[in-house]
Amino acid sequence: MKPTIMKFGGTSVEDTNAFRNVAAIVNAAVRLRPVVVVSAIGGFTNALLASVQKAIEGEARTATRSLDQFLTQHVAIARELLKSESSVAFEQTLAVARREIRQLHKIIAVHPVTHPPLQDEIVAYGEQLSAQLMAAVLREQGLAARYVDARRCVKTDDNYGSAAPLPKTMPATQAELQPLLESAKVPVLGGFIGSSEKGVTTTLGRGGSDYSAAIIGAALEAREIQIWTDVTGVLTADPRIVENARTIPVLSYQEAAELAYFGAKVLHPKTIQPAIDCRIPVRVCNSRAPNEAGTLIVAESAATPVQVSSARMLGAYGFLRALFEVFDRHRTAVDVVTTSEVSVSLSIDDVSALRELVPDLEKLGTVEVEDHRTIISIIGEGLRNTPGIAARVFSEIEDINITMISVGASSVNLTFMVDEDRAIDAIRRLHRVYFETTKGANLLAEEVSA
Ligand code: ADP
Ligand code: ASP
Ligand code: MG
Repeated sequence: MKPTIMKFGGTSVEDTNAFRNVAAIVNAAVRLRPVVVVSAIGGFTNALLASVQKAIEGEARTATRSLDQFLTQHVAIARELLKSESSVAFEQTLAVARREIRQLHKIIAVHPVTHPPLQDEIVAYGEQLSAQLMAAVLREQGLAARYVDARRCVKTDDNYGSAAPLPKTMPATQAELQPLLESAKVPVLGGFIGSSEKGVTTTLGRGGSDYSAAIIGAALEAREIQIWTDVTGVLTADPRIVENARTIPVLSYQEAAELAYFGAKVLHPKTIQPAIDCRIPVRVCNSRAPNEAGTLIVAESAATPVQVSSARMLGAYGFLRALFEVFDRHRTAVDVVTTSEVSVSLSIDDVSALRELVPDLEKLGTVEVEDHRTIISIIGEGLRNTPGIAARVFSEIEDINITMISVGASSVNLTFMVDEDRAIDAIRRLHRVYFETTKGANLLAEEVSA
């Protein structure tokens, strides 16, 4: 039988109770041949990153001390859930980790320019420690759990902080994990971390444990990839903005990818690709309410129409290439693009390179930068073929000024931009109309069946 990847995020491993919940969930799934992937305990990655900043400022001692409350948290969990022998062994692992981190902080304080690889080395302790602790806790519950160093499986380029996996990851992961699975062991790995060809520790970017789970799932041809988090599945909107957001039972890969890319933090945007490549279903579940159904993400049935661009765009070909090369050079991802014959509007989220980007863009034409804008995306397969949908959306928020409208090439995404201070109001109004009224529900049903 094919294995099931079970990934538990930071809030699912934040304290003793959370570890207990995870152990119960894995125990109940043992016949599904679980491979467990865990994040660092909640808040630890932020603290590790902040400690590197402290070290860069020359305060190595404060940097290491700032981590002690988190190390103590690990100790508390170990003492509550492990027999004293295993707890002592784990506390030794923690002490070694602290000493190694201390050395790295000292090096950074003296040579701050060396920090990118050392930062990844430090941050990776978060996932290594939670995974080792989880393996011990699962063993305590009678499971044949084995800690596996994810850096031996996930092989990446050396783009520290957001490394990309290399094809080698497939055979490396199989070689590490298949023998364990064949002898009925439960492998436990840290998400988010990998290593370069030279064996230097790398990380996959914030929220990257979901991506690790998907990569490992693809390598093992998993039956399913389960993302266990603190909400019941993918919701109709960000629950921190829309109080009545509710679980979407089934999503297509494309819908999920658009949602993740445009801000549904519940799923790392890159998670979907390995799943699509191998047609592995992704399930998003709540580790605090494991019996709630959550969201199942599967391949959609309707074929995507081929997009043919207008011949008039041919003249602009070289121009667009030059334009995107500028963004490429400054490693800045472009989110939404709209073009007319004489102008191109683009949106970017990461503005850290803006100061260098603009002079380069000015070589191509006049540049205007508008900030404090928010992108709102309405996502659903129903958008493909529903006439009048844009008119309905925009009439609902007719008093709000809208710029940059784009219907994604995937046709499951209607995206537009509003002033930042009108965004929450717009999202709540659209959510009310589409998800919280009977009229909205009917509308939605029509769209889904259309
Ligand atoms: P984890 O630590 O398990 O990886 P994250 O914090 O990365 O969890 O992601 C879960 C959070 O994503 C939720 O607590 C929720 O606040 C947020 N979120 C934003 N948009 C959505 C959405 N559309 N559906 C579900 N959760 C969302
Ligand atoms: N611990 C990492 C982060 O906080 C990775 C993850 O949790 O997915 O970004
Ligand atoms: Mg996450």
